[in-house]
Amino acid sequence: MAYSKEERREIWKKTDGRCHLCWCNVRLKSYGAVHERDGWEVAEVAA
Ligand SMILES: [Zn+2]
Repeated sequence: MAYSKEERREIWKKTDGRCHLCWCNVRLKSYGAVHERDGWEVAEVAA
């Protein structure tokens, strides 16, 4: 299931832009990118 831009922003904001797996900072714009390069997926920040 795809998330809209707004939904992704809400999820990202809820976690202070951090990955719940390793607490690294992820960039909102890097959604879907490779995690090692500040990318993230919804599951990583919201699960
Ligand atoms: Zn992480």
